[in-house]
Amino acid sequence: MSPTNRSPERLVVIGGDAAGMSAASQARRLRTPDELEIVAFERGHFSSFSACGIPYWVGGDVATRDELIARTPEEHAARGIDLRMRTEVTEIDVAGRRVRTRAVDSGAEAWTSYDKLVIATGARPIRPDLPGIDAPGVHGVQTLDDGQALLDSLAATRGRSAVVVGAGYIGVEMAEALVNRGYEVTVVNRGKEPMATLDPDMGRLVHEAMEGLGIRMVDDAAVTKILTGGDGRVRAVGTESAEYPADVVVLGIGVRPETGLARAAGLPLGEHGGLLTDLSMRVRGHENIWAGGDCVEVMDLVSGRERHIALGTHANKHGQVIGTNVGGGYATFPGVVGTAVSKVCDLEIARTGLREKDARRAGLQYVTVTIESTSRAGYYPNAASMKVKMLAERRTGRLLGVQIVGREGAAKRVDIAAVALTARMTVEEMTALDLGYAPPFSPVWDPVLVAARKATAAVREDAG
Ligand SMILES: Cc1cc2nc3c(=O)[nH]c(=O)nc-3n(C[C@H](O)[C@H](O)[C@H](O)COP(=O)(O)OP(=O)(O)OC[C@H]3O[C@@H](n4cnc5c(N)ncnc54)[C@H](O)[C@@H]3O)c2cc1C
Repeated sequence: MSPTNRSPERLVVIGGDAAGMSAASQARRLRTPDELEIVAFERGHFSSFSACGIPYWVGGDVATRDELIARTPEEHAARGIDLRMRTEVTEIDVAGRRVRTRAVDSGAEAWTSYDKLVIATGARPIRPDLPGIDAPGVHGVQTLDDGQALLDSLAATRGRSAVVVGAGYIGVEMAEALVNRGYEVTVVNRGKEPMATLDPDMGRLVHEAMEGLGIRMVDDAAVTKILTGGDGRVRAVGTESAEYPADVVVLGIGVRPETGLARAAGLPLGEHGGLLTDLSMRVRGHENIWAGGDCVEVMDLVSGRERHIALGTHANKHGQVIGTNVGGGYATFPGVVGTAVSKVCDLEIARTGLREKDARRAGLQYVTVTIESTSRAGYYPNAASMKVKMLAERRTGRLLGVQIVGREGAAKRVDIAAVALTARMTVEEMTALDLGYAPPFSPVWDPVLVAARKATAAVREDAG
């Protein structure tokens, strides 16, 4: 048979957002439709959208929902990707190399066979089983449908009180969105400080700044019930000791990998419930199945442990790697150092590497330093203060982690530390980094370098 008469291989992708459609798009760049048929299934209404932008759309910084859609199903179709919307994959038959699908609107079921399979099912938001949790006015913010429902709810409410449950980065960003919409915002948080991805001393800075913005912070409190009014809508959020009035409630409690299908199919899952892959993002032990994005566990390059981190930046990279490999090329995803940035109003929050408790858990001994510096030369207009906390390994001085909280110019400085972590630099080596300097951009010693100098001294002092 001549190559032109051979029927193409079929790639099936489960999940039509960041990881799945990045994989599909990259595979399509490398393989023509004659060589590789690509069929993707997405149960929702939207493909290739930015959930990351939802807080800014809800807050009014981004005017319309459509600005958050990177590529529509029609645009994917024009590139030779058969993206079937509102179609849920309900079963993976690994031995038979096929998936069972169900049309969400009609219920019609069908089987589709595959030669290669990509699992990119994302993560599922945690929704605690509390009285009143399904009441009108209680919202998640995972999808564009969620964002629209929240905006509709805000438009329908007459009151101005909002409660955000959870103070991770999504809770913090949603608190800002609601402040921008003119709401009196209460954040109820189970932890002792907001932003549990920081050490508590740095989380405290976020706490204080949020209170300074007029946000009521309720820490160390678990929500026990959602109270409703006579109209059935939410009216308050209850903890064991208090009630907080709420015309709307936003849930930002975290996510778990969406791996029910994979589990039922007998695919390997890690201790955090995410799929386990090799460095090429191939599911371990399965030659023709790849997985990426929020449904997988990733290697933390600093601690050497597997973790589940749900971030779009990883999902897009995973998709690129998968698409390259599926398309016949070669690429790997080595792992992450745990970099994340966010903000609440003008306060920027950044972290990379290990927190103190991560270092302890990994069996690493460390020294820490915290410095205060400015975003620009102290004499230059609008120089804003920032705090930088740095962890370095005892004796070796290897950089282990950095956290930064401050105003404009604080967050993206963490990228210097992310590069240093990836290169396994010591804090002393960091002090000689040739970073750019001019008064509008930084003091002559960048705050990250000031921290590295202090950490170098602390490592030496510790060594005696
Ligand atoms: C409010 C918010 C803000 C965020 N901000 C940031 C940020 O600032 N920076 C950052 O890096 N990340 C951010 N993220 C995280 C980022 O959006 C996710 O990490 C990213 O979307 C993950 O991509 P994914 O493709 O793995 O999963 P998803 O985007 O969740 O896509 C998975 C898709 O699979 C579909 N699916 C699942 N199961 C099935 C099935 N059985 N059949 C068919 N379809 C299925 C789902 O409907 C979904 O569309 C944010 C997330 C949220 C919710």
